[in-house]
Amino acid sequence: MEARQYRSFIGLEVHIHLLTKTKVFCPCRSAFGDEPNTNVCPVCLGYPGVLPTLNIEAMRMGCTVARALNCAIPGRTWFERKQYFYPDMTKNYQISQFASPLGQEGFVLLEGKGTDGNAISKKVRIRECHLEEDAGKMIHSGAVSLLDYNRAGVSLLEIVTEPDMETGEEAELFIQQLRRLVRYLGVCDGNMEEGSLKADANVSINLPGKGLGKKVEIKNLNSSRFIRLGLNYEIKRQGLLLDEGKAVAQETRLWNENRDQTETMRSKENAADYRYFPEPDLPVFCPDGAFLASVEAALVELPQARFRRFMAEYGLNEEQAELIIDEKESADYFESAAAAAEKKGLAKNDAAARIANWLLTDIRGMLNRLGLSFRDLGAFRLNPLRCASLTALLALGRISGKIAKKTAELVLAEDRDPELIVRENNWEVLNDPVKIAEAAASVAAAEASVVDEIRAARAGGGVKRAASLTAFLVGKVLAASGGRADPKIAGEQIEALLSK
Ligand code: ADP
Ligand code: ZN
Ligand code: MG
Repeated sequence: MEARQYRSFIGLEVHIHLLTKTKVFCPCRSAFGDEPNTNVCPVCLGYPGVLPTLNIEAMRMGCTVARALNCAIPGRTWFERKQYFYPDMTKNYQISQFASPLGQEGFVLLEGKGTDGNAISKKVRIRECHLEEDAGKMIHSGAVSLLDYNRAGVSLLEIVTEPDMETGEEAELFIQQLRRLVRYLGVCDGNMEEGSLKADANVSINLPGKGLGKKVEIKNLNSSRFIRLGLNYEIKRQGLLLDEGKAVAQETRLWNENRDQTETMRSKENAADYRYFPEPDLPVFCPDGAFLASVEAALVELPQARFRRFMAEYGLNEEQAELIIDEKESADYFESAAAAAEKKGLAKNDAAARIANWLLTDIRGMLNRLGLSFRDLGAFRLNPLRCASLTALLALGRISGKIAKKTAELVLAEDRDPELIVRENNWEVLNDPVKIAEAAASVAAAEASVVDEIRAARAGGGVKRAASLTAFLVGKVLAASGGRADPKIAGEQIEALLSK
């Protein structure tokens, strides 16, 4: 029997740790990697009688992400208690949002290439974004389980999509785009290894025209690659089940990265199991004009907009623009350096092309060597102004490409201005015809026999021999100037002497 074609549906629930200094409902420090149980207080440990207070920064960051995802912020948003009994949450409930999440009904445009090389262009609807507190961390070691409550109460934003994606590649791209977005907004470090951003992936398949299928949830995926692999594995597994006339069990599964497969974790609970009810200890939050204005002010130009603008405004190609906008730091660096190079007299597109080239080749190489990345460009010694100086010196023919590289290395080593370094070392190209003529004359005098041989060869048809000897003389002139003489002028001056 031929395998049937199914449609697949993927919806993601992404959790991001917001970069608030303190937790979402108490003043404890919010940080990864501190000594266990040092960032705790009666509120996040769930002592009886304590009261939570909302961290307004968490609300602002959450709303900023929501707006960047084209969600509407409701006039009233509040919190609910989500009950569950597990040692990672001492209160036996988590404060979350249910009926009125802070962000509602948005969308993102997935655009780019999947890991399989196929182009992706698709609108993915965002159902909601809601703010909640994270749970503590359980560390299972042999017969004992240890608990670290530093993470309990840390601000967490959950972003829920509609099941609009169809392949593991699309879901992977969604995560990559979202990660870039929250890093641009400065609300999350996007560190998936440390769990700052992780996703639960929901997937079902069905025959075309039959709507959604029975969904399986793959929990706690902490890399975009595992998201792709897990989903594609599930789509295949579910297809085989349906092919055999079996049903897909609605359940929660885990990705086993050692076996490259998903495995049953537990059957799925539903909303009713959590017995949600409004949190009586927190007031309803009604964003006022000033709050909403501060959210809009936090919306920097987003990566996709910047990508398009960099191509339109600076004439960058897709590949360059994609690489440069990937981090906000490299995009900012590029724009300041290009503007500074333009001020130094370069045409806008020429300045941009040269800076882009430097950034993507030499500067990337230097950062690699220093164990740094584009994210560290803010504190890089070859800063945008210095990069522009160097680019202008090169573009205006004042230094050679070789000298430019040498100067850049000294900028890094000495933390000094390239103009200064070039001047002190006397590295400027020598392009004064009179000076080069003098050098050419003394070379010709010292190599009189060569001059004679060239003239003879030219007269007697030894074209090749004449050319190579002429090049030899030009080389001597360049050497005499310490490599600084403009080779073109040196050639012209030697030619002038030969034809005398
Ligand atoms: P639950 O109540 O099980 O948490 P939700 O309706 O809240 O399910 O949806 C959770 C996530 O699962 C959302 O991202 C949603 O898009 C996705 N989802 C829901 N139903 C399906 C389905 N049948 N197939 C694939 N994804 C689904
Ligand atoms: Zn606390
Ligand atoms: Mg749900």
